[in-house]
Amino acid sequence: MPTAITGLEAARQLDEQDPLRHFRDQFYIPQHEGRDSLYLCGNSLGLQPKSAEPALLHELEHWRAHGVEGHFRGEMPWMDYHKFLLAQSAHVVGAKPEEVVVMNTLTTNLHLMMVSFYRPTAQRYKIIMEAGAFPSDQYAVESQVKWHGYSPAEAIVEVKPRPGEDTLRTADILEAIDEHGAATALVLFGGVNYFTGQLFDMAAITGAAHRVGAYAGFDLAHAAGNAPLALHDWGADFAVWCSYKYLNSGPGGPSGAFVHERHGRSPELPRFAGWWGHDEGERFLMRKGFSPMPGAAGWQLSNAQIFSFAVHKASLDIFQQATMPALRAKSEKLTAFLLQELAALPGSAARFRVITPAAAASRGCQVSIYTEKEGRALYDYLGQKGVVCDWREDNLSGRGLEAGQAGVIRVAPVPLYNTFEEVHRFVTLLGQAG
Ligand SMILES: *Cc1c(COP(=O)(O)O)cnc(C)c1O
Repeated sequence: MPTAITGLEAARQLDEQDPLRHFRDQFYIPQHEGRDSLYLCGNSLGLQPKSAEPALLHELEHWRAHGVEGHFRGEMPWMDYHKFLLAQSAHVVGAKPEEVVVMNTLTTNLHLMMVSFYRPTAQRYKIIMEAGAFPSDQYAVESQVKWHGYSPAEAIVEVKPRPGEDTLRTADILEAIDEHGAATALVLFGGVNYFTGQLFDMAAITGAAHRVGAYAGFDLAHAAGNAPLALHDWGADFAVWCSYKYLNSGPGGPSGAFVHERHGRSPELPRFAGWWGHDEGERFLMRKGFSPMPGAAGWQLSNAQIFSFAVHKASLDIFQQATMPALRAKSEKLTAFLLQELAALPGSAARFRVITPAAAASRGCQVSIYTEKEGRALYDYLGQKGVVCDWREDNLSGRGLEAGQAGVIRVAPVPLYNTFEEVHRFVTLLGQAG
């Protein structure tokens, strides 16, 4: 057992040794009573990079100066704008640039991917997913199943934690895939579950799905920019993510999508099409007959949303400077420090329990603190003290607890802009509450 390093002194030492500590200066930190708030909510909305505003203004000025010619002028002409995001997006999710594209918003892309990768037949019509997935994913899956004429009760298989446990065992996920294998069309998992913070073994899930002849897709909303990802090497069929959580690209920011190259080179794969996915050499010939671009680009519907892409690009530049391996190295330490401090808090076991797995391989940066009684009151107290985190009611049925009481306080120390000292201050406040 390594000795737990805790306390303010330890936190300050860790901050001094942190090679990424200067990245905090590239962000605006919301203020609370005249000082930096304790912003631990990057899992919900990442902070604004200081480079976002000039990037946005640049495009507004480009439009003002050039009108429609802006599509062809400047260093980043709008015609090709989506291409400027590919290499950096690919770095974040572990893909080849041609396997990714930025377009639309997350739930839209989830539907577009299911159009291609959920094509149920009488024999294969099931979707296997985690119980307690983010509601939008549940609605998307349910509506796809119904749209194809199947009943959600029969077609959707939810893998649940064992009684008395909070998170899923990989073995149980793989067993469910084997059990339903012959009838399964798609295995769809989050990368990191929004409620528990559990990071799933996407390599193992992909392997199991493929062994039974199903596709494997992932919603990386809570994983992109947070957890190590290797979509290409894992062989995942598709993935989608948003850019406004860990990717700091602003409210409603654009979504990313991944399509593995083995599918990207299959023009016959059914999809919903639009002109921006059409072979770019012929796009303006305005001919009949859709012929997709190779790669994920062939799933684009519309021309680029320049203003939101510009902010996304400014943010991706920061990820390129910091690099995902360095961010993950800090993130593992930062969250380990949070877990150690929480465990060292006197009397903590009686008040709450951490439901996020402790092992770094099974979590991102987020820690979910489950409370049965104090719940909302504790969250409100933290808010008064300048902590920005969030509160989610218990969505896992069957606990039989009173509404408004049981749930999780989610805290996400983000390696780009949070410090060890902030983590220490958060735990100190938690200890003083109530
Ligand atoms: C945040 C989140 C969403 C939100 O979807 P939008 O289409 O961006 O509004 C969907 N799914 C998951 C898993 C999320 O975490």
